[in-house]
Amino acid sequence: MANQNDASEEKQPAETGTTSAREKASFAVPVIKGLANTLAHVLRREPNTIHYPDEKRTPYPGYRGEHRLKRDALGREKCVACFLCSTACPAHCIEIVAEEAPWSDREKRPRLFNIDMMRCIYCGMCEEACPCDAIELTPVYNIPSRTRGEKIYDKEKLLSL
Ligand code: SF4
Ligand code: SF4
Repeated sequence: MANQNDASEEKQPAETGTTSAREKASFAVPVIKGLANTLAHVLRREPNTIHYPDEKRTPYPGYRGEHRLKRDALGREKCVACFLCSTACPAHCIEIVAEEAPWSDREKRPRLFNIDMMRCIYCGMCEEACPCDAIELTPVYNIPSRTRGEKIYDKEKLLSL
């Protein structure tokens, strides 16, 4: 018994050495590929920057930017103040106060609809939750503001985007 244990202990350093060499090789290949890729980009001399704001970057399809409230064919807000978007919002940044709608095809509309864009994480859950297709995240990414208060978008601002 003692002899078998001794034999296995003697083999261990050799096996560990082989694995370590393989591991080193598996690290080296991606590093060399990465360096080659970097070198190729350096030699190509293509600019990776744009002259913003004179040049604007086109967001990729599905980009989730500034929010917008949509209007229907009659120019009315589509929102029926059902609170599903604010319930779904994980950042709790949508505030809605409902009022009776002056139209016969719906019961309510939002009297107040605020989104605190400083808290928004642009997850798109509000758009997913809306049963009326009344809110969407647009490709717009560059609305400047000087104060935190300006980043609370009210109903008028959301309808104008
Ligand atoms: S994008 Fe997400 S975090 Fe922002 S308002 Fe919609 S649900 Fe809330
Ligand atoms: S935007 Fe859509 S989900 Fe949110 S309150 Fe209006 S109708 Fe409901």
